[in-house]
Amino acid sequence: MNNRLYIVVPCYNEEEVLPETSKRLKEKVSALVSSGSIASDSRICFVNDGSTDSTWELIQKYHEEDPVFSGINLSRNRGHQNALLAGMMTVLDNADMIISLDADLQDDINAMDEMVEKYKNGCDIVYGVRSKRKKDSFFKRATAECFYKLMNRLGAKTVFNHADYRLMSKRALQGLAGFTEANLFLRGLIPMIGYKSDVVYYERGERFAGESKYPVSKMLGFAVDGITSLSVMPIRYITALGFFVFLFSIIILIYSFVRHYLGETIRGWTTLMVSIWAIGGLILLCLGIVGEYVGKIYLETKGRPRYIVESFIDR
Ligand code: UDP
Ligand code: MG
Repeated sequence: MNNRLYIVVPCYNEEEVLPETSKRLKEKVSALVSSGSIASDSRICFVNDGSTDSTWELIQKYHEEDPVFSGINLSRNRGHQNALLAGMMTVLDNADMIISLDADLQDDINAMDEMVEKYKNGCDIVYGVRSKRKKDSFFKRATAECFYKLMNRLGAKTVFNHADYRLMSKRALQGLAGFTEANLFLRGLIPMIGYKSDVVYYERGERFAGESKYPVSKMLGFAVDGITSLSVMPIRYITALGFFVFLFSIIILIYSFVRHYLGETIRGWTTLMVSIWAIGGLILLCLGIVGEYVGKIYLETKGRPRYIVESFIDR
C-alpha cells in the first residue's frame, strides 16, 4: 500500500513553538505508524520561510537527531501560501500523501487519523473544517466568516471555515502543480483540482506560544487577493453600475429639460457639487478595482518563480 505521509509545516519565526510542535507531531506520526495507517518512513517537513530567528537552526538540529524530521529552507520570506506550495512541490516525488498545517498547532492534530482513513477510502483531498471558532477573538471570527460568505457570493468557491489544514494525495498534488499562477490563493485553487474529496471536522484551539503572523492589515490584503485572483465578479458589478448610472443620467437630463421649459431653472449649485463628488468617487473606486486586476496581470506575465529552495534536507 502506498501510504508514505509527509506533514508539511510552513514556519516563519516560529522558534517559540517549534520545540513543542515537533514533539507533538512526532508522537502523532509514531502513533499513526504503529497503528499501521501510514508507512514507517513518513516524514514531518518544516519549511523555513526566511525566518530571522533561529527557526532554521532548530529544524537542522531536529533533522540531525531524528530522520523523521526533514526541512526545506527558502531563499527568503515569501509568505505563508508560497511557503506551503514550496513544501508541497518539493516533497511531491517522495510522498504518497501530504497533510499541511500551521506551525502553531491551532488545528487539532488528532483530526489526522480521520483524514488518513478517508484517504484510504479513496479520497484525494480531505479538508479540515473548523466546527467552532470559540477560541478565536470575536473580531477574527466575524471577519473570517464574512469573508467566506463574500467569496462564495462573488463566485469563488471555497470550503466554508476551512483554512490550509488538509490532506492531499500524490495525484491531487500533481494536479496542483499544473496551476502556475503567481497570485496564489490555495484555498480557492484546490477545489478546482477536482477528484473525490471529503471534510473532517475539528475544533480550533489557541496559539500556544508566540504571536500571530497575520495582523489585520495582512488579513485584509489576503482577502482582497483571494477575491481578485479567483473571481471577475467585481469587474462585472462595475459594468452594471456604470450602466445604471448612465440610465439615471438620462432621466436627470429629461427632468432638467422639462424644468427648463417650465421656466423653473434654479442655480443648481448643490446638485452640481453632489454629483461631481459622487461620480468622482465612484470613478476612483472603479479605477482602483480595475487596477487591482491589471496589477495581477502584470505580475502573472512576468512569470517569476514563486519561491526558491535554498536547501532540502531529507534522509
Ligand atoms: N507563515 C509563513 N510565512 C509568513 C507568515 C506566516 O510561513 O510570512 C506561517 C506561520 O509560521 C504559521 C502559518 O503561516 O505556521 C500561519 O500563521 P499564523 O499562525 O501566524 O496565522 P493565524 O493562525 O494567526 O491566522
Ligand atoms: Mg495560527
